[in-house]
Amino acid sequence: CGVFGVYGTEGAAAVAALGLHALQHRGQEAAGITSFDGKLFHTKREMGHVAGNFDSEDAIRQLPGHTAIGHVRYSTTGETAMRNVQPLFAELSSGGFAVAHNGNISNALHLRKALNRRGSIFQSTSDTEVLIHLVATSAYRPPLDRFIDALKQVEGAYSLVCLTPEGMIACRDPLGIRPLVLGRLEESLIVASETVALDIVGATFIRQIDPGEMLVINEKGMRSLRPFGDRDARPCVFEHVYFSRPDSVLDGNSVYQVRKNIGAELAKEGPVDADIVIPVPDSGNPAALGFAQESLIPFEQGIIRSHYVGRTFIQPGQGIRDLSVKLKHNANRGLVEGKRIILVDDSIVRGTTSLKIVQMMRDAGAKEVHMRIASPPTRNPCFYGVDTPDRSKLLAAQMDVERMRSFIKADTLAFISVDGLYRALGEEERSDQKPQYCDACFTGAYPTSLTDQSDEEGPD
Ligand code: 5GP
Ligand code: SF4
Ligand code: MG
Repeated sequence: CGVFGVYGTEGAAAVAALGLHALQHRGQEAAGITSFDGKLFHTKREMGHVAGNFDSEDAIRQLPGHTAIGHVRYSTTGETAMRNVQPLFAELSSGGFAVAHNGNISNALHLRKALNRRGSIFQSTSDTEVLIHLVATSAYRPPLDRFIDALKQVEGAYSLVCLTPEGMIACRDPLGIRPLVLGRLEESLIVASETVALDIVGATFIRQIDPGEMLVINEKGMRSLRPFGDRDARPCVFEHVYFSRPDSVLDGNSVYQVRKNIGAELAKEGPVDADIVIPVPDSGNPAALGFAQESLIPFEQGIIRSHYVGRTFIQPGQGIRDLSVKLKHNANRGLVEGKRIILVDDSIVRGTTSLKIVQMMRDAGAKEVHMRIASPPTRNPCFYGVDTPDRSKLLAAQMDVERMRSFIKADTLAFISVDGLYRALGEEERSDQKPQYCDACFTGAYPTSLTDQSDEEGPD
């Protein structure tokens, strides 16, 4: 998902709509904006894209006020339904409270059961709603203390932007799993999932919000709190590989440059003699360019992508996913015919994309097809807000690399190593004592306890 918030500007909702537009790649199922006009909260939530739902004068007129927060959704917990579309809103004893959440609370089911037993009545199946009930039932009095008390009970990933009658609160979980940045647009402050959203609304980047930091923004200005004590950060490495937009800057690194570095590392680790390097567009583009530059094999666009279909993975349901792979990519036959090609993609999850693309290249006359993947094998599900399927559907959890190669029918297949990925990020290697990133989907080293998993399946 993607979140955005703007405090203190006329027509805040229009700025939020623009910001969400820039974050559309983070979730395409639904979008929503809540504004506050000094007296009343206004919320508009819609299924589908930001464009078409939030770019008309009429839509913005429904969202008056100088402050607004927004959300683009792709579901990991809770089904695709209106009641789960954010921002979520509740009338608490302290006044209205709206929240937009990126991430996933990995003990949400556990907390929900306990809250249900104490009489809470849930209106959605979203993990985020747990937060609202924890705030509502907190034993503390001051609203901010209630919010902090609630956050101390949740585990997992959260980058949050909240709206109250007093102002805006932004918070990043203690490990900083999902990104969150701070910017300025003239007199107003902005928080957003990625720097690209600041660029697009014309704001300047101030800094990233630190892991475990809470910013309280109101008419008195901005206060920074550290309610959780000090812990070593574990930002999601997969943001760099796939999730963030290449024109964003994450943890001080250009996403585009890191992806090119990954491609270059991959060329060193998995070299192969071939005629051309072809990206699986768009997610494989920078890594393929890095691969080509390092290996001195020409980069060519051997697959043309239609821009009128969404990202395959982000649409739920295998049926739609299968179909949209075909809609999305087509072979550039004249180029590919008779050639030995290297295909570069960011990841293999179920293997659907790779299987189809390799076949497509063979149908177009490729002589040899070598597949190179810009992330290590995805062997474990994510419980922190990226929609990887469970282990039974992860190709790399079922097969070793040689069997995967034969499954996707490539001549050779290689993945970047975990240390290669860390080198691309400017690290010497992965520190096994204190890993610099969350890389659990590749290594299985989850940085938090996973209460809901052990609740349901019992101890191993
Ligand atoms: P597969 O077809 O193997 O199931 O999925 C891999 C493809 O899905 C890659 O081309 C990748 O760009 C795309 N993809 C889209 N969203 C995601 C995501 O959230 N995680 C991963 N690993 N891949 C994704
Ligand atoms: Fe990111 Fe993977 Fe960790 Fe999920 S498990 S937060 S996708 S690195
Ligand atoms: Mg892709």
